[in-house]
Amino acid sequence: MVHSSVLGFPRMGADRELKKANEAYWAGKLSQEDLVKEASRLRLEHWKIQKDAGVDIIPSNDFAFYDHLLDHIQLFNAVPERYSSAKLSPLDEYFAMGRGHQKDGVDVPSLEMVKWFDSNYHYVKPTFQDGQEFKLASNPKPVRDFKEAKEAGITTRPVLVGPVSFLALGKADRNQSVDPISLLEKLLPVYVELLQQLKEAGAEYVQIDEPVLVFDLEQKVKDAFKPAYEKLTGSGLPKLVLATYFGDIVHNLDVFPSIQNVAAVHIDLVRNPEQLETVASKLGSSQALSVGVVDGRNIWKTNFKNAIEIVESAVQKLGKDRVIVATSSSLLHTPHSLDSEKKLDEEVRDWFSFAVQKVAEVVVIAKAVTEGPASVREALEANAKSMQARATSKRTNVQAVKDRQASVTPEQHERKSEFPSRYAQQKEHLHLPLFPTTTIGSFPQTKEIRIQRNKFTKGEITPEEYERFIEKEIEETIKIQDELDLDVYVHGEPERNDMVQYFGERLDGYAFTTKGWVQSYGSRCVRPPIIVGDISRPAPMTVKESKYAASVSKKPMKGMLTGPITCLRWSFPRDDVHQSVQAQQLALALRDEVVDLEAAGIYVIQVDEPALREGLPLRKGIEREKYLSWAVDSFKLSCAGVKDSTQIHSHFCYSEFQDFFHAIAALDADVLSIENSKSDAKLLKVFEDKEYPRHIGPGVYDIHSPRVPSEQEIKDRVADMLKYLKPEQLWINPDCGLKTRQWKETKAALINMVNAAKYNREKY
Ligand code: GLN
Ligand code: ZN
Repeated sequence: MVHSSVLGFPRMGADRELKKANEAYWAGKLSQEDLVKEASRLRLEHWKIQKDAGVDIIPSNDFAFYDHLLDHIQLFNAVPERYSSAKLSPLDEYFAMGRGHQKDGVDVPSLEMVKWFDSNYHYVKPTFQDGQEFKLASNPKPVRDFKEAKEAGITTRPVLVGPVSFLALGKADRNQSVDPISLLEKLLPVYVELLQQLKEAGAEYVQIDEPVLVFDLEQKVKDAFKPAYEKLTGSGLPKLVLATYFGDIVHNLDVFPSIQNVAAVHIDLVRNPEQLETVASKLGSSQALSVGVVDGRNIWKTNFKNAIEIVESAVQKLGKDRVIVATSSSLLHTPHSLDSEKKLDEEVRDWFSFAVQKVAEVVVIAKAVTEGPASVREALEANAKSMQARATSKRTNVQAVKDRQASVTPEQHERKSEFPSRYAQQKEHLHLPLFPTTTIGSFPQTKEIRIQRNKFTKGEITPEEYERFIEKEIEETIKIQDELDLDVYVHGEPERNDMVQYFGERLDGYAFTTKGWVQSYGSRCVRPPIIVGDISRPAPMTVKESKYAASVSKKPMKGMLTGPITCLRWSFPRDDVHQSVQAQQLALALRDEVVDLEAAGIYVIQVDEPALREGLPLRKGIEREKYLSWAVDSFKLSCAGVKDSTQIHSHFCYSEFQDFFHAIAALDADVLSIENSKSDAKLLKVFEDKEYPRHIGPGVYDIHSPRVPSEQEIKDRVADMLKYLKPEQLWINPDCGLKTRQWKETKAALINMVNAAKYNREKY
């Protein structure tokens, strides 16, 4: 028979209980004992959901207090000395690595945290020493959790990150030069020991994740699979299911001889259905294939008909006993359950499936293939009806949007003139000095702002009262900018809850959840809006506030928008039309906004695209170029409707452009502001090397900390930048928006920043 399996379940709980418990513990309001109890309760609840749904293969060790890579760091005792020497309890040592620790004379920053593949989840990067040794933790968590489930009557398949991925996703610690993959020999015995303990505890199968197989791998990493999977397979050890996700593995098929002893291989067929044929043909005669057909990265109901077809084609090749139906990846990236959504519009609700619902989908698909469609007729019929309703809905088919897209011309992507001529007009129009100063958009989101927004959302104050409050806030931030003597002002974004949600709420084609949280890192969760249909802008979204701001300010006011790619990437996108189509719809809506802002007297407009880079396909090559081409097009389409004399800015929260500089240059933005203060100014060299002709504002100070940079520090930073950029190219601004800061440090830092700019104006 065809078994059903889940690769991982969200950890937070229906009501983000884990987040709340963690944060209460960190604040000293919950004991460690109670935190541990709460975690155990959540694990049991989540196993039970899967068991009750009828899932055959249920994961354990997918739970983590903070992050599963961090779990492995502690599990193998790859804990840098600065943490272990603090002699904290194991759980506090774990949190110290995840989020830093500053208490009772211990002061250690966190380990580096980076994006998990192309998702919005962040993992803690394993950090290795020269001479690194590994040692299995006593009473290891995977064994503990397996036993915990077993005691509750649930036999699970523990999940581990595989040794090759664990090393390849790590790095050498500061001032160390060890090549992580060279540590394999030392690491393997610890894995063997762990696997033995799991086997003794009764685990017949273990899921071992090797997601790095979707990357382009260096030869030495590929070569690591052979020794690794020779050691980790064999008598006395559990059978292994080697899991990959978020891409295809066809380009790495030469590792297959090295993994010939694993019992099964899991592939992501939502992302890359075409890999089925090739991978199936490479399997050994007793190896099984776990086919990921239920999307672990999105919130859409699975199309049963398509999924069953895929599973059946696998069954035809391999037979029923060698096929497992699975989620494409862990469900970590989906919200907990649709049942918590009380306010969703009924029409769109019928299209969604969150983690709890996806678990049930896996079961239905496995049953349909094992016992035939008649065994799940009702579920199949309801699903087909829902697919049909979505495909023909007025929300997914807005003729006016489609017509407008069909009429987009290449010329609409281009500004009227080239930069030199635009700049000449902007200079005259805006009267900007050398080294113009500005900020990135938001000013401190004070408690008062939150209180008033809350009151407004709850209907406790009228829209007029709220509007008046926002105007007062804007007026105050402008007064402060007058005092600071900045050159290009912003209105401060007091009316915005979030840079994507705010726009989503003003566009047609979006839906919002009340509890659709997904873990971003540690205890932090995000609640992405959902693109449900064709997107259009029923009315201007930001003009009122920007216009008001301009009317009370004597310097140029910068309008502030979130770009099409960032709106797309930080939402759950549709899965029924290509992302480039959705990006273009967003671009057209933003284009109208840009033109309206200009007509309202806003002659500097910033279109933020901090998410542009994270959309890059994981592998270099043609897919990447295709993405960059439509991403750049959508940005340009959103901006190019303005006159030459209007200045277009864009902002990025990073400055590593080496990999795709041509795309950044192709955006043709008049001014780019980029996060740079914590990086080496050398990253700016690429602008010099490529003779980048337009203007750049690399952040001169870090906004993530309350620390106030001195004037001298900023002057030094500017001097560093001038090694690579021409004086007439350089803008002076902070790294990013200031919404998370307090006014006190914000003013102090900006005074120093403006003084540093003035000093340089004198000098040049
Ligand atoms: N304009 C936004 C702000 O200042 C930009 C935020 C971001 O880049 N993440 O808050
Ligand atoms: Zn930023």
